[in-house]
Amino acid sequence: MFKQIYNRVRIGFVVEPVTPVLIRSGGSSLDPNRPDMEFVRVKTVFGEAPYLPGSSLKGVIRSHAERILRSIGYHCCEVGRDVCKKEQKENCFACRIFGSMSTASRMRISDAYPWPMGATQEQVRDMVVNIDKYVPTESRTSVRIDRRKGTAAGTALFEAEAVTGGSFCGEFTLTNYQLWQLALIALVIRDIDAGFQRIGSSKSRGFGRVTVSVSSFEIHQYGPLVSGGRQLCGTGILDEQTRSKYGLIGDDAVAINGITTTLAEESIPGLMEVLKSGKGANTEWPQMIELILQSSHWQRLLAGGKAK
Ligand SMILES: [Zn+2]
Repeated sequence: MFKQIYNRVRIGFVVEPVTPVLIRSGGSSLDPNRPDMEFVRVKTVFGEAPYLPGSSLKGVIRSHAERILRSIGYHCCEVGRDVCKKEQKENCFACRIFGSMSTASRMRISDAYPWPMGATQEQVRDMVVNIDKYVPTESRTSVRIDRRKGTAAGTALFEAEAVTGGSFCGEFTLTNYQLWQLALIALVIRDIDAGFQRIGSSKSRGFGRVTVSVSSFEIHQYGPLVSGGRQLCGTGILDEQTRSKYGLIGDDAVAINGITTTLAEESIPGLMEVLKSGKGANTEWPQMIELILQSSHWQRLLAGGKAK
């Protein structure tokens, strides 16, 4: 892993349930008036509110990213079989983004809450006190299935609480990334938004369909990656020695043409630059990703998969 920072992106996202979403809290409820399985809740000073844990979201994103990587010819390690433990260069392409036993994750994802990122205490209080209005939930009766036998298990019927509406806001960051990694995560988000990948439990029963929109993004590029706001750069533009040490894919830059990102005031010429989404992050984001998908860098990723 690099000792210095070259680039970093922070992306704000909003998840909205289309069909009921089930994410179980750890324990079963002892209160007879509550469902057997409650939706996971965050404790605030004003009370509790349903939320989407970052770890659940990251799990879904990783497993779908692995599916895409395999479909373009890349091997990804599997938990319980051949988990990557070696140095980064030897890691599979999924571990290069999401981390392995020996390398830290390049991606961090926050929990997603019913209130906007950076909400004031007052906003949070207003939402938590009226949480049923903002995040409707329903109890659904389910049949407990014995996974091994495929039949109904023990006391078969149970009540599970599902979230049926509202919106959940969070953000994720990627640090020292290559452009293919950014594009891959964008493709995963697009598939989740299109309903090809669901979140939570009971997915086979139609639960967990959500939309995901990008509400903002902010890109920081440092040192050799500073481009005067003209290029989106990945770590693969570093020198040949660094590229081969970390197994980076080259041609890792695209010209930012016709996208209304702005070079923010906090940029320091030659040292670091900050590119921010304008008002329409949800349209600028796919335009930016399209530039990567049309680049020679992306072609190199595809060619590398075919060669394996
Ligand atoms: Zn791996």
